[in-house]
Amino acid sequence: MKMTLGAVARPGTSKANKTGSWRTSRRPLFLHVNCNACHSCALSCPEGCISGTGKNMYCPDYDYCKGCGICSTVCAQHDIEMVAEELGVPCVPGVAPLKAPYNNREIKSLSSS
Ligand code: SF4
Ligand code: SF4
Repeated sequence: MKMTLGAVARPGTSKANKTGSWRTSRRPLFLHVNCNACHSCALSCPEGCISGTGKNMYCPDYDYCKGCGICSTVCAQHDIEMVAEELGVPCVPGVAPLKAPYNNREIKSLSSS
């Protein structure tokens, strides 16, 4: 990303700055089980990279997700877990990733590693 004098980024460059590379060890896993579409995760994400409408339909854009964990913290339904980056489960709206190909035990063990 090109910076101007004073290290100011030009307007409209945030899309070019793929902050997903900032993640170090954890990524949010959207469980799509108890989501009630409150929209809190999307409103709280500092990258604005969570989108969705409707129950169990929310997903982050991992190209921009920094792995800060705020979405997981604010989700009152406990429907977002921070898990090991290596898990690499894609987020598909309306699909519960715990059902396949991973099971809950594997997710938990990876989360605590
Ligand atoms: S904060 Fe949780 S319950 Fe609310 S929309 Fe996001 S995933 Fe769904
Ligand atoms: S961890 Fe959640 S709140 Fe943080 S950048 Fe990623 S999607 Fe947004």
